[in-house]
Amino acid sequence: MTTETTTATDLTTFENLLAAITAPEGQGVQMKDPATGAVVGYAPQRTEADLDAAIATARQAQRAWGAKSHAERSAYLNRAADAVEAAAEALAELLSREQGKPLNGLNARFEVGACAGWLRANARFEIEPQVLVDDESGKAVLEYVPVGVVGAIGPWNWPMMISIWQIAPSLRMGNTVVLKPSEYTPLSVLGLAAVLNQVLPEGVLQVLAGDGALGAALTAHEGVDKLMFTGSTQTGQAIMRSAADTLKRLTLELGGNDAGIVLPDADPEAIAEGVFWGAFINTGQTCAALKRLYVHESQYDQMCEALVDVAKKMPMGVGTDEENVLGPLQNKAQFDIVSSLVEEARAGGARILTGGDPDEDQPGYFYPVTLVADIDNDNPLVAQEQFGPALPIVKYTDLDQVIDWANGLEVGLGSSVWGTDLDEARAVAARLEAGTTWINKHGAVDPRVPFGGVKKSGYGLEFGLEGLKSVALPKVTSW
Ligand code: NDP
Repeated sequence: MTTETTTATDLTTFENLLAAITAPEGQGVQMKDPATGAVVGYAPQRTEADLDAAIATARQAQRAWGAKSHAERSAYLNRAADAVEAAAEALAELLSREQGKPLNGLNARFEVGACAGWLRANARFEIEPQVLVDDESGKAVLEYVPVGVVGAIGPWNWPMMISIWQIAPSLRMGNTVVLKPSEYTPLSVLGLAAVLNQVLPEGVLQVLAGDGALGAALTAHEGVDKLMFTGSTQTGQAIMRSAADTLKRLTLELGGNDAGIVLPDADPEAIAEGVFWGAFINTGQTCAALKRLYVHESQYDQMCEALVDVAKKMPMGVGTDEENVLGPLQNKAQFDIVSSLVEEARAGGARILTGGDPDEDQPGYFYPVTLVADIDNDNPLVAQEQFGPALPIVKYTDLDQVIDWANGLEVGLGSSVWGTDLDEARAVAARLEAGTTWINKHGAVDPRVPFGGVKKSGYGLEFGLEGLKSVALPKVTSW
């Protein structure tokens, strides 16, 4: 048995995985389960001096890593996926305890599975040199070479999966990565990195937990060539400013407020479960979740009833209880945002179909699934990104009007159209201002399909060949 295999085996239990990453009790920042308040562990806090050292290590390691062939790096990604699969239960438990999401459903086990899936997909893609000119005038070939050191910063909602979205393509293209996780979910990302680092060469992937200031230092650092950021539009704007002096390449996946339009020919009963999970995946804490539902007046009452029926069947509770498929909000700040937006909607005359009444005696940041009907399009619950388990359902009569409403915000990450006639649905989809428009589904990301926002939802693409190109430099050779 090799040393690597021995270490991999060691990280397959939750206790061992946690012991490998946590700071000693009383040191570092205490991380608590948002469902129960129980202490999960302690996040070590790194300084700017640590960051300088990590970036120097990453620059050094990049030479050998970037010199490997695509086939060699792909083999590493596949071995990293094997390691994630071997430690899957331990990773899912860590994620569930720190982030709050249940083990079951489209939650912790699903997220860990997606990490392995994204690693394997990135290992599979082939980027062939592109012959641009080949005639009597000469030849020109376009290839993609490593950028160098990638700085990555992510949010707390899907901490492992979004980190993999940054790590996998960056490594595949020959870059090394220095990652600063969200202050709310650092242990999840440290745990994932510990598992990946069982098989990756030293210095290729480093995760440094710390606060927003450490993230800001990463974005301004001269030793970083490219930034991949997923988080709020506001922080994305700060990062763009901070990266200007060193002219770093940027990929910014920012906030959204996705519209879903239910066309008159849709069957409310048939689509209700798909609409529900499009909106409430990860208890609504998802960038590309359906956050504003527009339903034609002819279907409105049936759609509302069908959604209430689905909502009532979905158990919410502590993440590690196997029966739950919905969990708490990850943090108090997000709980407060959702509560205040729902209260504002109620005060404005909207009708709460279900939810809207969190149990104040229950520990944890649980907010019930909340469906809000008879709400105006300009109500803050519709116009702002609630990022939680509350869905406003807006009635419309006219297609042009609803398309204007859907396009009326500054953000444009995803959107969806629900209907039976596919040609009609595609014609509506073509008029929506969003990076992706799904038909009869929402938020179904795929590692083979480029994903990114328009307007203030982002800058650049992730996933697929386009995602690989965005963590590489185009290099033309002409002769
Ligand atoms: P934030 O923008 O608040 O934080 C994201 C990350 O940025 C955190 O790691 C944070 O660190 C760090 N950070 C904060 N300030 C700075 C700074 N000045 N410079 C560099 N880094 C900084 O977002 P949230 O974590 O609250 O995530 C929720 C938002 O993310 C929502 O708007 C959501 O829509 C969006 N999102 C977008 C996705 C997409 O793919 N488009 C996917 C998922 C979420 P710290 O925690 O230490 O403050």
